Parts: sequence; structure tokens; C-alpha cells
Amino acid sequence: PPPQTTFSRVMLKISGEALMGDQGYGLHPPTVERIAREIKSVRDLGVEICMVIGGGNIFRGLQGSAQGMERTTADYMGMLATVMNALAMQSALEAMGVFTRVISAIPMDQVCEPYIRRRAVRHLEKKRVCIFAAGTGNPYFTTDTAATLRASEMGCEAIFKGTKVDGVYDKDPAKHADAKRYERVGYTEVLAKNLGVMDASAIALARDNNLPIIVFSLDEPGGFRGILAGRGTYTVVQ
Ligand code: UDP
Repeated sequence: PPPQTTFSRVMLKISGEALMGDQGYGLHPPTVERIAREIKSVRDLGVEICMVIGGGNIFRGLQGSAQGMERTTADYMGMLATVMNALAMQSALEAMGVFTRVISAIPMDQVCEPYIRRRAVRHLEKKRVCIFAAGTGNPYFTTDTAATLRASEMGCEAIFKGTKVDGVYDKDPAKHADAKRYERVGYTEVLAKNLGVMDASAIALARDNNLPIIVFSLDEPGGFRGILAGRGTYTVVQ
């Protein structure tokens, strides 16, 4: 049969908020399960999958520091939130028979594996989904930067950023009926126009490592698998 995708190893980045469904906070198990099914369908194509999940559905460093907490402490709390999300995704994937590893930038051996690059690569070769947790392990960063860093380290061919919209627009499509979606857009243009794909450090790191970012909608059933096969609508940042 003809190959259904040309990708062999990819990074999927989703925000923590993608896991909360219509709730204002936390985890919505049916939503976690729905996204896990999307990931399984791509794994079933034989694609090696890395994943980074944010923590914004539970805690954001900036929100903590706005409430008077020290920024670094608040950021560590945000990183811990990403570990909870990673464990929830692991649980949903394994219930479907997908082997996974949660790999944390902050060692917590009773809970998950510490990050050791060569070991993570081995997991991928064995077709285990690697969920990278605790961001970069450093305050003042975001999980977008963590996704870009791990994608570079793991030799991913692209970062797939699953969002609520099907790509990058010149203005907010929820507010402007005449907003136009880009098919392709350069890293430098994203930075100059502040297009809000990812934060500036993540975009700059992707640019320096020639890592394309593919922005697509996670709400579309079968969307992730379709995009990998070149179907559907999306934006390539390159
Ligand atoms: N965070 C951090 N360093 C990192 C990654 C994340 O300090 O390398 C903290 C930061 O406080 C951030 C929180 O973890 O607000 C949750 O991550 P993020 O905001 O990226 O989550 P998302 O918006 O994708 O849900």
C-alpha cells in the first residue's frame, strides 16, 4: 500500500486548556480520551510520537506571580501542573493499548522517568509515545519552548501545534469575519507581526533549528491523522 504519511517522527504540542473541555478548569476525562484516540490513530500509522502538554488548565506562573507569589515558585507550580496533565494523557492512552512513557524535566522517580535523551530516543524507536513533562525544567519558559527544544533533541521532522483554530490568521478569526488564514508564513513574519502561534522564544528556537510548525485544529475529528497525510486545512510556519 502507498505510504499514508511521509512523517516518521513528530512532536504534538497541545495546551493544558485543550484537556478541560467546556469546563473552566482542570481535566475533562472524555476530552482527554478523545485526544488520546486522535494520537492512537497516528501511532497506528507507525509514526513515532513525542508530546508536550501545557499546564494552563491548572496553573500558570504568570497568574501566580500576579497574585503576589514569587515568579520562579509560581513557574515551578506551572511545571508540576504539566506533569498531572501528562499522567492523565498517559492513563487514557494506555487504556487504549498505546504504550507510553512520561518523561519529566524535573526528576520525580516515583511518578515518571527523568529525562535522559538517549533513553527517550530508544522509547521512540520502540514506538512508545513519549510525553515530555515539566516543560524545560526552568522558570521563565513555556511549554511551547519545551516542545521546540524536545522536538529538536529528538530529531522530529515537525512540530504539530493543535489549537482551537485551523491555522494562523492575520487577525483573530473569532472576532473578525474577514480574517485570512495563511497557507504558509515565515518565522520572521510571525515574530514581526506577533501572530501568536507560539511565544517568541519558541519561534526563534524553531527558526534556528529549521523545524517547521504546523498549526491545525484539534477539534476536527481525525484532524491530526488527516494533517499528517496532507489533508485538511492548516498553516505551515517555516
Ligand atoms: N513553565 C515553566 N517553564 C517551562 C514550561 C512551563 O516555568 O519550561 C510554567 C509556566 O509557569 C507556565 C506553566 O508552566 O505558565 C504552564 O505552561 P504553559 O503556560 O506553557 O501551558 P499552556 O499555556 O500550553 O497550557
